[in-house]
Amino acid sequence: MFVVFQCRHCDAIVGDATDWLKAVKDIDSIALGNITEGSVYVEKEPVRVTSQFRIDRGAEYLPLHCSKCDAVLGLYYLSTGRFDDDLRNSYLLHISELKSYQIPVLRMPSVDPGSPQKA
Ligand SMILES: [Zn+2]
Repeated sequence: MFVVFQCRHCDAIVGDATDWLKAVKDIDSIALGNITEGSVYVEKEPVRVTSQFRIDRGAEYLPLHCSKCDAVLGLYYLSTGRFDDDLRNSYLLHISELKSYQIPVLRMPSVDPGSPQKA
């Protein structure tokens, strides 16, 4: 199975499971090592998490936006504070902002070399 992730607002494809790092349940997100080129853009000004109610307090991140519809899809950690340091320099996409679909891996039918070819 091949899984593709899309912006739930405009269906733009933002990534796929080949770049999957892990699910991050604490912030309802998935972490991808890379995203589909040009599908998102990051804000230039980093945001520092100051809320004590957030598990990633002290972290700094750049908000990620869908390039097509500008919706905020997730974030890109510059630093993770005391939160999971594995997530630094990875793309986190909020599950609530995504749709996904699975592409079954198709087995190509074997071609019979004896059958006539149509041009
Ligand atoms: Zn979008």
